[in-house]
Amino acid sequence: MRLSDAELDRYARQIVLREVGGVGQNKLKAASIAVIGAGGIGSAVIPALAGAGIGRLTIIDGDTVEVANLHRQPLFRERDAGYSKADLALQFVQRLNRFVEATPIQQRIDAANARDFLADHDLVIDGSDNFATRLAVNDACVALGIPLVSAAGVMFQGQVGLFRAQPCYRCFVGDAFDAEDCDNCAELGVLGALTATVGSFAALLAINTIVDVGGDQAGQVHLFDGAKLNWRAIRIPADAACKACGSA
Ligand SMILES: [Zn+2]
Repeated sequence: MRLSDAELDRYARQIVLREVGGVGQNKLKAASIAVIGAGGIGSAVIPALAGAGIGRLTIIDGDTVEVANLHRQPLFRERDAGYSKADLALQFVQRLNRFVEATPIQQRIDAANARDFLADHDLVIDGSDNFATRLAVNDACVALGIPLVSAAGVMFQGQVGLFRAQPCYRCFVGDAFDAEDCDNCAELGVLGALTATVGSFAALLAINTIVDVGGDQAGQVHLFDGAKLNWRAIRIPADAACKACGSA
């Protein structure tokens, strides 16, 4: 794959990074990432990935914009209320970077369709707002052998982790949430600056993983305290009895 002059101009400030260079930029261009959720986290993830020149983006979200989303979802404008988030995110990407091929999926991802939607991607970023979706996405990623960046933010707490094979996201949270299907943000509240922080971290983790910067982060979860404003990392042990990645 060869970068055009227009691409070399556009990405000059990241190609000049020794850790990225032309080789890294080509890896970004060759990469295919599925983003689940064009909400608060997606509003940070999607512009960062499209701006960085990820070659193919699939944006999965079955929701439409509500006015109460606007404080944390700067992908959207007041006039967008009632329209498909996946479609609006596609328009955003097309306006930002013509070198990115984006595909919207206007459906809720679940255990029945996740493998179909996620197959043939190099990495998945899950910014959905409920455990049932996160676990369905995790199980599909484990089955397909795709690394998963899982990101969540609620109240003043954020978490971001990279999971590859084992341990997986299910090793981290367990099985208790399979049946839970609540919208945490609607019930508990969250600030847009919190979801933007977590989403930007998730995008950076994804980009670093694709370019191979900073060593392998798999199996760690980064926790953000948005009140005290600090990050800490914990290492997740693999659960040998895990329903998704366990030895069975
Ligand atoms: Zn597991």
